[in-house]
Amino acid sequence: MAFKLLTSAGLTILVGTILAWPFTFLGINFLSALGFFVALQFIGFYFYRDLTEKRLAVEAERLTIAREAELSKQGAVVACPCDRAVQTFVPIILNEKNDYLCPGCKKQVNIHVNLKTAIATIPVVADAQQVLQQQLVSEVEK
Ligand SMILES: [Zn+2]
Repeated sequence: MAFKLLTSAGLTILVGTILAWPFTFLGINFLSALGFFVALQFIGFYFYRDLTEKRLAVEAERLTIAREAELSKQGAVVACPCDRAVQTFVPIILNEKNDYLCPGCKKQVNIHVNLKTAIATIPVVADAQQVLQQQLVSEVEK
C-alpha cells in the first residue's frame, strides 16, 4: 500500500517535471509549472475515475437486467418427434412461438404447450385412531 502510494506520487512528480521543464525556457518558474501540472494530473484522474465508475455502474445495471430476463424464462426437456427422439432443454415462453433446431436430425421442431386444469381439492386431515373408534362404536351400536 505504502509502496504503491510512493510509486504513484513519484510518477506524478516525474510526469509533472517532464511537462514543466520546457516552460522554464519561457521564463516561467519551474516550481509553479510543476505545481500546475501535478494539480492538472489530479483533476484529470478525478474525472477519469468518475467516468469509469459511471460506466461500470451502467454495465452492472445492464448485467442485472440481462440476468433477470434470463431467470424469467421457463424451460422444459422435450423429445424430438424424429426416430432418435433426441432430448433437448428448450426455453419456453408462453406468449411466443416456441421452436428449436434438433441437434440430432437438424430439423426445426415446433413446441405446442398443452395446458390442463384440475379442481383443487383439500386433503382431509383426521386422526386415524379417532376414526377407528367411531367405526367401532357404530358397529357395537348395531
Ligand atoms: Zn430430431
